[in-house]
Amino acid sequence: MTGNMEKSFNNTFVANGLEREHNRRKDPEWLARKLRDPESVFLPVRQSKVLVTNGEAPTPVLFSPKQLGQYKQTDSGVFLGEREGRAYFAVELEETDFGAFEEAGKFKDLRSVAPLLSREDGAILAYAQALGYWHRRNRFCGVCGARNEIREAGHSLCCVNPECGAAHFPRTDPAIIVLIERGGKCLLGRQQTWARGVYSVLAGFVEPGESTEGAVAREIFEEVGVRVTNIRYHSSQPWPFPCSLMLGFTAEAEDDQITLGDSELEHARWFGRSELLEAVENGAVKLPTPVSISYRLIEEWLEKECRPT
Ligand SMILES: [Zn+2]
Repeated sequence: MTGNMEKSFNNTFVANGLEREHNRRKDPEWLARKLRDPESVFLPVRQSKVLVTNGEAPTPVLFSPKQLGQYKQTDSGVFLGEREGRAYFAVELEETDFGAFEEAGKFKDLRSVAPLLSREDGAILAYAQALGYWHRRNRFCGVCGARNEIREAGHSLCCVNPECGAAHFPRTDPAIIVLIERGGKCLLGRQQTWARGVYSVLAGFVEPGESTEGAVAREIFEEVGVRVTNIRYHSSQPWPFPCSLMLGFTAEAEDDQITLGDSELEHARWFGRSELLEAVENGAVKLPTPVSISYRLIEEWLEKECRPT
């Protein structure tokens, strides 16, 4: 494996090696067997939190069908996939029924706990959380307002109104995230709401009718007034906060004049490599969480040989 695929493979939250069984999950008999199989496991998700064991090396709390059945119908499980013959399901909890689950672990924000998890555990929890969010937000049909019913092991919802019958599918919002370089320096910015000292690469959502490259050029110009060229795709990362797919790029700035534009950023500036490393070392600057593609873009740039552009 090389190039973009290898880079994406190594991004946190990418569920590698999970058989999604796209065709078999539509078969109700196959699904019913998996929901009863004592080897199958359920991952509880509550609002935007995942259930992990307590302690310094947390792991997801896994419930067997029998254990889950004490608290909740197993057929509410959303099939995620199979790994080494074991089926994984996500189960979205109501606010009224999570208490019993807290005896087994603690509900935590995935972003904060992810650096402590294995790659596989982080990825499957991210996947569970993304589907849980979609189910929570789509209990009713967006066309006619009637109730939606689960289909295809939770990968589709169908409106119960016979005059409507609209089918709904999980959404993923594409967002671009870009490391901009010029003359051996990179452009980082910060938002007012971020923790003190945190700087990151620039990002924004792709709008309808727009290419990803078009979104890169537009977002960067809107945020910092810089025109970019040589836009190159780097890798992608599922980012279930709540339902994005981050599309990582690198680009070169045509000039280094920063003009803050759309009030999204409170500050942006150019950093040389040694300058950034020193600022991180002495605590003046903090980089984004190491599980993010933004961190990977910055890390890779820091490791590159300095070459004139
Ligand atoms: Zn409907």
